[in-house]
Amino acid sequence: MTKKYVYFYGAGKAEAKGGALAKNVLGGKGIGLMEMTAIGISVPAGFTITVQTCEAYYKLGRKLPSGLEKEVREAVLKLEKVTGKKLGNPHDPLLVSVRSGAARSMPGMLETILNLGLNDKSVEGLAKKTDNARFAYDAYRRFIQMFSSTAMGLSKQPMEDMLHEMKNEIGVKTDPEIPAEKLKELCAQFKAFYKMNKGEDFPQDPWEQLWGAIMAVFNSWEAEKAQTYRRVEKITDLKGTAVNVVQMVFGNKGDNSGTGVCFTRDPNTGENTFYGDYLINAQGEDVVAGIRTPLKLSTLRDTMPRAYDQLCAVRAILESHYKEMQDLEFTIEDQKLYMLQCRTGKRSPAAAFSIALDHATKPLLSGPQANDLVKKGYLPKKYARLAVKPVITRQQAVNRISSDDIERLFYPVIDTRKTGVDQLKKIRLGQGINAVPGAASGKVVFTAAEAEKMGQKGEKVILVRKETSPEDVGGMHAAKGILTATGGKTSHAAVVARGWGKCCIVGCEALNINYEAKSMTVNGKTVKQGEFITLDGSVGEIYSGDLPLKEPELPKAYYTILKWADQLRTMKVRTNADTPYDAINAIKMGAEGIGLCRTEHMFFDTEERRLAIQEMIVAETLDARKIALAKLLPFQTDDFYGIFKAMNGFPVTIRLIDPPLHEFTPKDNAGVEKLSKITGISVDKIKHRCEQLHESNPMLGHRGCRLCITYPEILDMQVTAIIQAAVKCRKEGVKVLPEIMIPLTMDKKEFKIMEQQTRVVADKLIQQSGVKLPYLVGTMIEIPRAALLADQIAEVAEFFSFGTNDLTQMTLGLSRDDAGRFLPTYVATEKDGGKGIFKDDPFQSLDQDGVGMLVKLGIERGRSTKKDLKVGICGEHGGDAQSIKFCHKAGMNYVSCSPYRVPIARLAAAQAALQDQKK
Ligand code: PEP
Ligand code: MG
Repeated sequence: MTKKYVYFYGAGKAEAKGGALAKNVLGGKGIGLMEMTAIGISVPAGFTITVQTCEAYYKLGRKLPSGLEKEVREAVLKLEKVTGKKLGNPHDPLLVSVRSGAARSMPGMLETILNLGLNDKSVEGLAKKTDNARFAYDAYRRFIQMFSSTAMGLSKQPMEDMLHEMKNEIGVKTDPEIPAEKLKELCAQFKAFYKMNKGEDFPQDPWEQLWGAIMAVFNSWEAEKAQTYRRVEKITDLKGTAVNVVQMVFGNKGDNSGTGVCFTRDPNTGENTFYGDYLINAQGEDVVAGIRTPLKLSTLRDTMPRAYDQLCAVRAILESHYKEMQDLEFTIEDQKLYMLQCRTGKRSPAAAFSIALDHATKPLLSGPQANDLVKKGYLPKKYARLAVKPVITRQQAVNRISSDDIERLFYPVIDTRKTGVDQLKKIRLGQGINAVPGAASGKVVFTAAEAEKMGQKGEKVILVRKETSPEDVGGMHAAKGILTATGGKTSHAAVVARGWGKCCIVGCEALNINYEAKSMTVNGKTVKQGEFITLDGSVGEIYSGDLPLKEPELPKAYYTILKWADQLRTMKVRTNADTPYDAINAIKMGAEGIGLCRTEHMFFDTEERRLAIQEMIVAETLDARKIALAKLLPFQTDDFYGIFKAMNGFPVTIRLIDPPLHEFTPKDNAGVEKLSKITGISVDKIKHRCEQLHESNPMLGHRGCRLCITYPEILDMQVTAIIQAAVKCRKEGVKVLPEIMIPLTMDKKEFKIMEQQTRVVADKLIQQSGVKLPYLVGTMIEIPRAALLADQIAEVAEFFSFGTNDLTQMTLGLSRDDAGRFLPTYVATEKDGGKGIFKDDPFQSLDQDGVGMLVKLGIERGRSTKKDLKVGICGEHGGDAQSIKFCHKAGMNYVSCSPYRVPIARLAAAQAALQDQKK
């Protein structure tokens, strides 16, 4: 089959339909335009050159593939037919925009050229035809600027300076005030500048212009800023951008025209209000670029009610059709509305939850609102019916939230308990537009490069710019927050920052930046580079100083959606916690038990405890060791008691000591001397003992259950502490479910020794206490051999918990402590200087092919012996959404992760269960 390079749409028909596949072929913008056309929305006609054409262009060494020209010529013919205009016609020219559009949104990163098709002759024709010379020459000067910089590589600034000088010369402030003859003069200046730099006249042939523009869009795919954006956003699966050639409609035709960007809901709060900015008598990128401060949509309702009503109808149609909040671009030409783009809009984390909840429970429009738009003839009845009902189910709402949404929800706010409201008033510098919520503090920097440099050194910085441009994306990412003097909520800075959930304030008109002096002044107060400021992106306030921040309050929608998730999931979610504090925190996050309590962490807590364990390690006889262990017993008992109480009846898995003993030994002379004094053992002997404990590869050495095989008295102490604490709780009426877990098992006999010893100690204590105390003894599966022999181990073990940190390290033969030095090369793609061997860091996201195979095998073999064997995971992967979905498929009963990842696990487990229902 021959490849099709070009797809056409216009006059209510489109050559392609929606869906993910189409997006990969036509890009987000292309498929949006086609779908809007097909469902009857007013969209200017056009055609889309596929992403695969861009891919072929690069494969051919930046050459257009043969066959493309024919298809583009045919598409232009169709466009001419639909519009009744001809490319290059000197009296009534067809003008087009040439715009990029990848499968995923990359705001402002790729290029756009507007008004293509204008030349010295057709500009006159356009002026006559529209009876608006000012408009025609404004369009021409914009085209010359965009084409020169984007397609021909000339610097943008000189032409911007000429425009600025022209305004100064005639004494006006804004572009729309420049009269026609002056714009004509400006076009002449631009062309002269072009000729001087390129050594030839500005291209007059529209076809030469069109091919130049198409290649410019393709070339922008590999421009540095686009590459940086993809690296930061981890976009690795896209092969290029589509090119959209669309008939021009004009927002710069006068005061009955305009152009705008809007969201079908408030992207910060999720509130069901129409939200956006527009500019009167302006074109294309003026709003997004943030050069002029735009007007609110409510003004549009008052000044152009017809256009506003059309826009409200489009809002209802698109939200009902896509069942998602949309981000729209529109142009109004002489009161008539045209849609230029629709895509799923980026939103703040709180809005992600509120929108999903609203979509599942509330209608977009009330009955009277819908009827009104139907009566006016703007809203088809079919969409009116959809818009008065919730558009998604609860399941779809749960599926829509991502783990990133949850993570970002916990972004900080200013701690007003530490910095009171009065104090805040005193240090307030000014206010801007609250573009992206959350708070951030850092040292002020004024260039993206500086932000990156300081960010790399680990300093927290706030990037302050007059406006940001796509070139600044690296610095914006490095900064903790962004502040700009101009722009609205849909400016480049706001859109990019919102995508990352990064605190951002824009349009702070009181802000004056002196780039040369590296300082800024706000309302008479000066801040120099390197001094601290704090931004509150939720309200748009700017303060001087490094203010303390705290965790935010969570929106109600978060609790509702997670409750729905809990009703859907089949796996339990536990937490890894070593202290009552962590345990309580984890319960607040929704944990249903502890899946891993690392007991050794308790030995580091105070000097007293450290000395006791050190005393145990250097003890020269069994009795001496027992005396030292007896000192640790009350500490451990207390700790376990606190944890059991905090978990109040939830199961608690306590793992016996795991790390090699050298980790506890004193590292300096003072420590050795202190230990010598306490134990009466000479300094030399202690040093000798520490040297003896040295291991070349301690991760594969004397650790885990190997320690208790050689020093059984450690197990005795730990099991005693667990059972004594549990008995105490039982006596107080607190329900306890201890699960004693043996780490790093590699053999059934080894485990059996541990298990029997555990039971002897535990049963005796329980019997003495007279209380009824069920408990379990199980093991971690962290060693490949244990996974392979899981059927044997399950003869003895009552549960398995996969320790995928160690299992990954041992399966891949990569030290978990050292691999960080070279793993980035394995994970980064070839384009980013890596080798692209792994898609993700296997210590963060489970290597499902390799380690995953052992996990599946371990579960299968374990359950072949013990049908109902309880199985969980407690490695870091237990908090990673992809890995959690794998665990569900593998048939685990629970995942366990750090407290702050518990909500992520609850959601991922529900999404995994929903995937099952689909099958
Ligand atoms: C593991 O190995 O996955 C595990 C949870 O144990 P640790 O990280 O303590 O070695
Ligand atoms: Mg381990």
